[in-house]
Amino acid sequence: MKYLRFLYENKTYLGILEKDIIYNINTLPGYNNLSTLVDLIKMLEDKPTDTLSQLLVDAHDIQTFKLDDVKLLAPIERPIHDIICIGLNYKAHYEECSGSMPLQEPTSPVYFSKRSSKILGPYEDIPFTGEYDTALDYEVEFAVIIGKTGRDILPSKVKEHIFGYSVFNDVSARTLQKKHQQWYRGKSLDGTSIMGPWIVGCEDLAYPPIVDLESKVNNERRQFNSTSNFIYTIEDIIVDFSHGCTLEAGDIIITGTPAGVGMGFSPPKYLKVGDTITCSIEQIGTISNKIITSPKK
Ligand code: MG
Repeated sequence: MKYLRFLYENKTYLGILEKDIIYNINTLPGYNNLSTLVDLIKMLEDKPTDTLSQLLVDAHDIQTFKLDDVKLLAPIERPIHDIICIGLNYKAHYEECSGSMPLQEPTSPVYFSKRSSKILGPYEDIPFTGEYDTALDYEVEFAVIIGKTGRDILPSKVKEHIFGYSVFNDVSARTLQKKHQQWYRGKSLDGTSIMGPWIVGCEDLAYPPIVDLESKVNNERRQFNSTSNFIYTIEDIIVDFSHGCTLEAGDIIITGTPAGVGMGFSPPKYLKVGDTITCSIEQIGTISNKIITSPKK
């Protein structure tokens, strides 16, 4: 099942996509008060996974839309906390980064965080002026959305705590990232978190999910790899991070990017106005965003 947010005639809706038809979640009985997909995730936290599928079969008078008629938005626009990010989780990416910043090979998952007051949608433009940093870079990532709040999660229980998966572009401002000893500032410029086109329910992918991911800039392939090459798997990360720290339903974890980022080329291939970055993950979908000159505030 695919969960999405979309705009239709200037109004925002939450939907479930099946084939090319979107079902308006708010017209399902008992679901009319939800404002965000995080509300839905929390509502489903302790319900069986087939609850919604059964409702779609049983319910009458569900409003529907055609996928082609709507504008897709970020499935979660405002994360409940900062986004939990994993760094250096593919060996070749560690090697390309270590050429341009001082790094030690990880012996545990590398955590950092990304502030985002508004995640951009799957086809939204990325505003950019160069005023804050001229070294803007792309990072395709496999995103995991937590479905059940928990702490000290056991390996055998990890799957129960996952709601679904999405495509994420962890756009990064490399000068700021390198200037400060912590990466937080360089990861947190406005308009540098992009997610979509929807959240695919975890039941739709085999577990653990082994899929290819790819990024292109103006149709030139830059990154291509598989989640089978994670240094730390989704299970490793959720078990380790939740040890003494609560993961909450709705939390977003992005699992690291493969080699091929702009910073890794010599000379670097940073993004510029007019570029289109396309990030795709097998069995999930594609997001594609153009860099535009940021309008003045
Ligand atoms: Mg990243």
